[in-house]
Amino acid sequence: MGKPMTGIVLQDWKSGRLGEFGNPPGIPPMLFMFRHDVYRVLMAEAARRGIPIEYGKRFVDAKEGDDGVTAHFADGTTAEGDILIGADGIRSAVRSLIDPDAPGPRYAGLISFGALIKEPGIPSTEGKMNMPFGKKGFFGYQVFDDDTSVWFANFPQAEPMTPAQVRETKPEEWLRILTEAYAADRTPAAQLMAATRPDELIVVGPMENMPRVPAWSKGRMVLVGDSVHAPSSSSGQGASLAIESAIELARCLRDQPYAEAFATYEKNRRPRVEKVIAATNRKNSAKAAGPVMRIINAWAIKTFSKLAKPEKMAWVFHHRVDWDSPAAPGLGNVPEDARIIGPK
Ligand SMILES: Cc1cc2nc3c(=O)[nH]c(=O)nc-3n(C[C@H](O)[C@H](O)[C@H](O)COP(=O)(O)OP(=O)(O)OC[C@H]3O[C@@H](n4cnc5c(N)ncnc54)[C@H](O)[C@@H]3O)c2cc1C
Repeated sequence: MGKPMTGIVLQDWKSGRLGEFGNPPGIPPMLFMFRHDVYRVLMAEAARRGIPIEYGKRFVDAKEGDDGVTAHFADGTTAEGDILIGADGIRSAVRSLIDPDAPGPRYAGLISFGALIKEPGIPSTEGKMNMPFGKKGFFGYQVFDDDTSVWFANFPQAEPMTPAQVRETKPEEWLRILTEAYAADRTPAAQLMAATRPDELIVVGPMENMPRVPAWSKGRMVLVGDSVHAPSSSSGQGASLAIESAIELARCLRDQPYAEAFATYEKNRRPRVEKVIAATNRKNSAKAAGPVMRIINAWAIKTFSKLAKPEKMAWVFHHRVDWDSPAAPGLGNVPEDARIIGPK
């Protein structure tokens, strides 16, 4: 599954190279994959293991008793279990039950769009994803050897918009707005947008950051994934962090009673996820910058790229949860700068 991505080339609005980031040494190339492909694989595996999935259930409440917890759904049905794991995304209902004062997502000043198109009319980028900082917005594209292309645009929009407000504008109108905005750049952005049909445009919606979530668990309820640590999408790490956390939570529950397991899980995961989120928030402020800041950022990116070594980013990719070691705070979750555990 997925198409290899051997490097990311940062560019200015004239397609001038600001810097390039390759894969850190010792790991296979990153793979570009679509969400629907990931879902298909995960669902097939769940089916193979006989794990039931119920659709159309909206979780609305939970009640804890001495022996377990009961989840309540909008259709009036309930489900019981020893614990309740809230893997319900960035607008988590479980998070609000754990802590009614927990912060929600905050708009990051950008609206995100993307598309997968055929015959883009541009030569292959030979495994590289080009990312130009345009005059009016950040852009990214890769042209594959099979003459298909993916592109995405992070378009600055000062006034906060909800996902519903973004979708009120029709895809053809967004394509017109985007093509016009990116036309002044000497990059293939406008050409790729012109080659995109309205039904191919993915209106992703507002980019959001999640502030630090103070409480990860309470009683028999615990959070995992975007519900508790959602880096902005530009990190390219949200799903990876969610999967890592799910494995770590499973490891802790395997070895400890639930209350202890929840504490160990948070202790082992919080430092890493907050480090990734902090690194991503710095990236987003560069993308949402105004014209003057964009020139300063371009200079900073160029200088940084000359000094940056791929090894410095290895901590993001090399992380492993050591499933075989017993769960205890700090055990099986070695600090990134202390030891690199390569892929098995
Ligand atoms: C534009 C974009 C690009 C991204 N790119 C990357 C990338 O390159 N790499 C990467 O690793 N990550 C990326 N991410 C992040 C990644 O998609 C998320 O981090 C990941 O999906 C989080 O998984 P999750 O299961 O925690 O939450 P989600 O995927 O949000 O799943 C939550 C589920 O809970 C359901 N749900 C919500 N509320 C309720 C309720 N009350 N009752 C019942 N069900 C409910 C939802 O319908 C949903 O199915 C990107 C995100 C965006 C928006």
